[in-house]
Amino acid sequence: MSYVQGVPREEVQLLPPSVEEYVDEQAPVRFIEVFVNGLDMVALKFTHAVPSATGRPSYDPKDLLKLYLYGYLHRIRSSRRLEAEAGRNLELLWLLRLLKPDFKTIADFRRDNRSVFKGVLRQFNLLCRQLGLFGAELVAIDGSKFKALNNSQRHGGVEQLRKLIAHVDARIEEYLRALDSQDEQVEGAAPRREPAGVKLTDKLAELSKHREQYACLLAQLEQEGGARDKIAFTDVEARKVKDVQRSGYMMGYNVQAAVDTRHDLIVAEDVVAQANDRSQLAPMALAAQEALQARTLEVVADKGYHQAAHLQQCEQAGVVTYVPAQGTNSGQSTKDGREVFAKEQFGYEAGADVYHCPGAQVLRLRGRSSHEGRTTLLYSNESACRKCALRGQCTAGRYRTINRSPHEEAVERAARRLAERPHMMHLRRRSVEHVFGTLRMWGHDSFLTRGLHSVRAEFSLSALAYNLRRVLNLLPLQQLIHAARKSA
Ligand code: SF4
Repeated sequence: MSYVQGVPREEVQLLPPSVEEYVDEQAPVRFIEVFVNGLDMVALKFTHAVPSATGRPSYDPKDLLKLYLYGYLHRIRSSRRLEAEAGRNLELLWLLRLLKPDFKTIADFRRDNRSVFKGVLRQFNLLCRQLGLFGAELVAIDGSKFKALNNSQRHGGVEQLRKLIAHVDARIEEYLRALDSQDEQVEGAAPRREPAGVKLTDKLAELSKHREQYACLLAQLEQEGGARDKIAFTDVEARKVKDVQRSGYMMGYNVQAAVDTRHDLIVAEDVVAQANDRSQLAPMALAAQEALQARTLEVVADKGYHQAAHLQQCEQAGVVTYVPAQGTNSGQSTKDGREVFAKEQFGYEAGADVYHCPGAQVLRLRGRSSHEGRTTLLYSNESACRKCALRGQCTAGRYRTINRSPHEEAVERAARRLAERPHMMHLRRRSVEHVFGTLRMWGHDSFLTRGLHSVRAEFSLSALAYNLRRVLNLLPLQQLIHAARKSA
């Protein structure tokens, strides 16, 4: 018994006689061709959407968009790898009609069209709507932290930057002294050591560059007046965010997705430079509502999104929210995590503006707190709590405080809704967590470009690739191609 044999290398083999035959009839690349050909590049505002009458001809943006779509779909995102694939991948040879743009052209295309990839995703979602792939009834919202193009060690605060500048200054001083001593040697007729002198000046130039960079970063941190405690040295717009995979912190961005739960397709997406999801509920819910053109919509999100003003804003727009409350509101102590009476067990009496607690005591308005522009009213009764037999079940502190927002009615309605339909949280986990799990598995959870504007473009392409892969798994290719031709 022998092994399966390959073809002898010397034997003459012919590729199919025409480029058309390089690609199988059922290859997804055929859909990319039809879909991109049907896009109005002028309306989408792509650069070079109209060829210039003079000068060297540029690449058709449709060809470069096809290359990116194909690449993202097959987990090839870097411009150098796309350049290599364009020269050897039969499907890309077919898709680009043997064009082989270099990596700089490919990278420039992504940079110059950062704002328009969101529009391409919108066009694809429009096609999905025509195919009835969106339920437009329930949307799950979630966020995940993706790594910025920044070494996790290359970040620091004001103190660290001051130390780095002092360290660089000391080294510059050292090199200047060394240069002085070289000059003295020259004056004392010692042989001139040119190569070493050149090295020192190069070193000095490099140190001055570092000093300038650290000084700029320090100035930016000071100008922001304590809005953030750390700044990334490579991608200054990145934030210190939780790294769930490694149970630590990293410099990264907060990626947001709103997913239609019928087929787990992304309907709205964004990337924000904020470490938490607190201010994302209304923007994401309203973006999803607009994308689905739904007058009413149900939205489910985890407790990180719970914010009274956003719950109220959603209600006013016809969006019904299912978002669990945080901390003691949910029946869990913020101090040690133990079970305590949930806020719903405290009855509010609007006429007297007081709360009645489970220990039959009255909690009055004792103060207000303000954080990030949000005002919270604080209700308590310290003397009653001190003597209360139920204190262990009520608080981990000396006394219990109930927080009330100016939009509390909306918070209470949201809590009642969730209590009536607790399975909503299960639906959320099943849909949106699958999206981020897939993107992480594809390796799309670390950005290749710097700055918020650029990483937003990258994530729009990732979301488009995700939706495309999902739809290719849901429908026969010919049906998709037919629909894309019809809607073009
Ligand atoms: S600890 Fe205070 S708030 Fe809690 S039940 Fe007792 S008296 Fe009421």
